[in-house]
Amino acid sequence: MRAVVIHAAKDLRIEEVAPVAIGPREVLVRIEAGGICGSDLHYYHDGGFGTVRIREPMVLGHEIAGTVEEVGRDVTGLVPGQRVAVNPSRPCEHCRYCREGLHNQCLDMRFFGSAMRFPHVQGAFRQSLTVDERQAVPVAPTLTIAEAAMAEPLAVCLHAAHRAGPLLGKKILVTGCGPIGALCVLSARYGGAAEIVATDVSPYPLRIASRMGASRVIDVGREPEALVGYAADKGTFDVLFEASGNAGALRGALDVVRPGAVAVQVGLGGEMTLPINTIVAKEIQLRGTFRFDDEFRLAVDLMGKGLIAVTPLISATLPFDRAVEAFDLASDRGRAMKVQLAF
Ligand code: ZN
Repeated sequence: MRAVVIHAAKDLRIEEVAPVAIGPREVLVRIEAGGICGSDLHYYHDGGFGTVRIREPMVLGHEIAGTVEEVGRDVTGLVPGQRVAVNPSRPCEHCRYCREGLHNQCLDMRFFGSAMRFPHVQGAFRQSLTVDERQAVPVAPTLTIAEAAMAEPLAVCLHAAHRAGPLLGKKILVTGCGPIGALCVLSARYGGAAEIVATDVSPYPLRIASRMGASRVIDVGREPEALVGYAADKGTFDVLFEASGNAGALRGALDVVRPGAVAVQVGLGGEMTLPINTIVAKEIQLRGTFRFDDEFRLAVDLMGKGLIAVTPLISATLPFDRAVEAFDLASDRGRAMKVQLAF
């Protein structure tokens, strides 16, 4: 079978890889759709991010869905022909955090297409993939396979929403409207937010954020003063989802959240300098959020019931042997939100 393999920055190849035999509790999934994520783009452009670096050729990809082709002898509840979204995380289930139920903090996590450990965990942009039965989550017949492949980024944002706490009736600010920011808008809308203001520096993602349910969108590149009104009386917003990873965006946002606000940092950039005086004086609750746990099944469930619709986010689908073109398109924020590969 063929796969999309990163060798080094700007060196992405379509290569033959060996299939992996399935164990008694594993299933073989024929991959049909795979979304290109920001971390895939970091491997492609920079060979990694932070201290995480490509040190051997690695198949990319972790936002995938497809059809079960074969099941191991002890698998129950999955049959060949079933369409599934594949959860890319496989926690160890034994470490102290897994035992506490904090699977996303697992000490021995295996996450598809990640160079965090060595040898790297090979990824899922391949024609077929062997996964643990617990990683294959059946999807409703109403869902397209492209939507099913959005379960992973949606799960990231539902986890961020959990980290924020109750959203019912709240005023929400989302800074950065790439796929993750836009899915935060959707999650906040589903969570019952009264008002959602979304910011970005590019018109295209803001148009999508509007379609996803933002009450107001602001191009802070063109209208840097537009947020100022929200700073009155120490600030307006109850909850911030910072999805740009940009220090300036976070600083600007902390000026317009109200005392006691919850600020969830979703975006990852470089290290940031924080306005500690503002955080202390306004008693802002700054919270991290990392990947997801049960939210993956929740994402599949909510999409399957038609309660969350992610289709406006999918801007293009290219055959996987045109991966380089797809990665270049996905890098262009003026033209693309989520770009998917078809296998
Ligand atoms: Zn663990």
